[in-house]
Amino acid sequence: MNELARIRDRIDTGPRFAEADAVRLNRLFRGTDTLEMLETVLKERMAGDVAVVSSFGAESAVLLHLVSRVDPTVPVLFLETGKHFSETLAYRDQLVERLGLKDLRNLAPNAEELTKKDESGLRWSYDPDGCCEIRKVKPLAKALLGFDASITGRKAFQASTRATLPRFEIDTTDEQGRLKINPLIDWSPERLAAYIAEHDLPPHPLVAEGYPSIGCMPCTSKVAPGEDPRSGRWKGWDKTECGIHAPGQEGPASELPPGFDPVF
Ligand code: SF4
Repeated sequence: MNELARIRDRIDTGPRFAEADAVRLNRLFRGTDTLEMLETVLKERMAGDVAVVSSFGAESAVLLHLVSRVDPTVPVLFLETGKHFSETLAYRDQLVERLGLKDLRNLAPNAEELTKKDESGLRWSYDPDGCCEIRKVKPLAKALLGFDASITGRKAFQASTRATLPRFEIDTTDEQGRLKINPLIDWSPERLAAYIAEHDLPPHPLVAEGYPSIGCMPCTSKVAPGEDPRSGRWKGWDKTECGIHAPGQEGPASELPPGFDPVF
């Protein structure tokens, strides 16, 4: 049985994925071009049912464009926290239209929990971790229960702890044995910029207004030229990410160029 057949057999018969499957996939696709890898994984259903997780932030267009070239029907999960800039929501709609994405899923927080734990809508101001838990972590965890794998837009250059992340890994946020695929993990800022220019992808409108990293409105501030782009996120808090990746998987971004979002 060759590697491809072995992995397919594993998906058909086993409990989703194990560490050995991620190792096999990394070995199988070592040196393979990103688009070619995505084509094989998605068309051959090597990762089972797959969804893309996107923040529709500063550089999200690259991953979404790549996926749309392979299969525009792949579900795209967007955490509709209720706290986004109107520009982000408009950008989401613009990209969906432009890329022909057929299955955008807006994930809203549980209404009952929201009423119970954030009735004022101001939890972000005194407990941002708790707010992210209600508005991001839980809705995503619930949505991912229906999938065997998720595709992220993480890049190695974004954070020291992302530097050694592989293309394929096991999602350790729960015990579902879900695969996490990081197609852009080895992409440099220059390569991303070149791809954006080559395909004439629209920028997030707030980048030009001084927001190099864009998240929810209350937790995103403008950043002065030359300042660390991530300094505009959760300003004044000892918090650098929203918690949708397992603790220890993320770290502070280093030398992040303007326009590249350290979160997602
Ligand atoms: S980023 Fe801010 S507003 Fe958005 S969910 Fe997290 S704490 Fe709440």
